[in-house]
Amino acid sequence: MRIGLFGGSFDPVHMGHLLAASESADQLELDEVHFVTAARPPHKRPVAPAEARHEMVVLATISDERFRASRLELDQPGPTFTVDTLRRARRRWPAAELFFITGADAYRDLASWREPQALVELAQMVAVSRPGYDLGRLDPFFRERVLFLEIPGYEISSTEIRRRVVDGRSVRYLVPYEVEVYIVKHRLYRAD
Ligand code: ATP
Ligand code: MG
Repeated sequence: MRIGLFGGSFDPVHMGHLLAASESADQLELDEVHFVTAARPPHKRPVAPAEARHEMVVLATISDERFRASRLELDQPGPTFTVDTLRRARRRWPAAELFFITGADAYRDLASWREPQALVELAQMVAVSRPGYDLGRLDPFFRERVLFLEIPGYEISSTEIRRRVVDGRSVRYLVPYEVEVYIVKHRLYRAD
């Protein structure tokens, strides 16, 4: 089994995430990609509740048989660090080849991640290209240990989607239809 773990706050999940996961699965011949919703990411404070973000990931991933919506970090108390998540994944799938997937932007501050040496031993680290972020200044330690994947550029972020909702603009074709409906139904990200 070759398993990709794709971590994020998914606030909300969008087409850029789905494309990144799909391209990673194709290029790395992964059997599964698990979308690991961060409950309490150490570096930022999500806007929507963790369960709502997870439910949107469930809706977004349900129609692709390679994708799983993972609760790996959701039921953990306290802040969640990637290295702990990878240790838990390793215990759950002792025989699997693990890949930890992020976008290029996540690697700019990789040096500040917990236990970098353990990270690269627990899983193959993977960085997919993302418009607006290059990896030119990456620490040599990581440059040698991270696998870089070139994927079609999708210039979109959860921040931009939340801003559009606040402004009353459409998010159609930026998020899956079911996610768009969920955001409206639960009145997420609105200013009022
Ligand atoms: P925010 O604006 O709230 O930070 P985001 O769009 O960056 O949201 P995250 O949940 O922070 O989404 O990202 C989860 C993972 O997906 C990160 O590793 C990020 O680099 C990657 N990612 C997000 N959007 C894209 C994209 N458009 N192309 C490639 N990778 C992406
Ligand atoms: Mg982000």
